[in-house]
Amino acid sequence: MISEKNEGLSDGSRMRGNMRKGTLTIISGFSGAGKGTVMKALLAKYSSQYALSISATSRKPREGEVNGREYFFKTKEEFEELIAQEKLIEYAKYVDNYYGTPADYVEEQRNAGKDMILEIEIQGALQVKEKYPEAMLIFLTPPSIQELKNRLIGRGTEEMPVIEARLRRAKEEAEYMDRYEYIVVNDTVEECVEQIHRLIQSQHDQVYYRRDFIAEMKKEIEEFVS
Ligand code: 5GP
Repeated sequence: MISEKNEGLSDGSRMRGNMRKGTLTIISGFSGAGKGTVMKALLAKYSSQYALSISATSRKPREGEVNGREYFFKTKEEFEELIAQEKLIEYAKYVDNYYGTPADYVEEQRNAGKDMILEIEIQGALQVKEKYPEAMLIFLTPPSIQELKNRLIGRGTEEMPVIEARLRRAKEEAEYMDRYEYIVVNDTVEECVEQIHRLIQSQHDQVYYRRDFIAEMKKEIEEFVS
């Protein structure tokens, strides 16, 4: 007889009733790839389905950014306190600033059935994948590197030295692109949104999310055979 235990499942993966646990998707991409725009469009189109994690960061807010909406803006000391208290699922330093994902919201939303999205950089993405092997890793790229440069300069939110630092960082990040599971090219926002939506929805059929169903089938077969 083949025996297998449901070991190593994170809390809440076996949900009561018909409530299914939300999936976990990580979206990374070079600075200027259009992640922010694509995420906004995805959430606007499928608002009831998705929850986007709001990260903490020690970076200063850009014009128009609101504390608690784009990020929880923290001082370096406050951020280090979050690390010490183990309040973050992952964190990383990116071009001299800390960025990290608060733990509570992610589990809360997934347990409420929401498909959770983390829009984070590569080091953090790999940390999350270690902790949550069921997480799906998507890398979003612009159609070309020239396009990336145009977008970074065009949006005018950073000074030239910062843009150059971000492009150097993009070169480092390119080394890790093949650690991801899917590449999505951001040609048009609409197509990109649909492609990401399809990828995430297909995750609901991952065995990880069908454990209850599998357990029921096994039980029924057992009863039927005995
Ligand atoms: P930005 O300063 O342009 O808002 O973000 C810079 C980089 O930090 C982006 O690549 C973004 O995906 C990443 N980032 C944002 N939040 C987090 C987070 O919570 N954790 C990690 N590891 N990276 C993050």
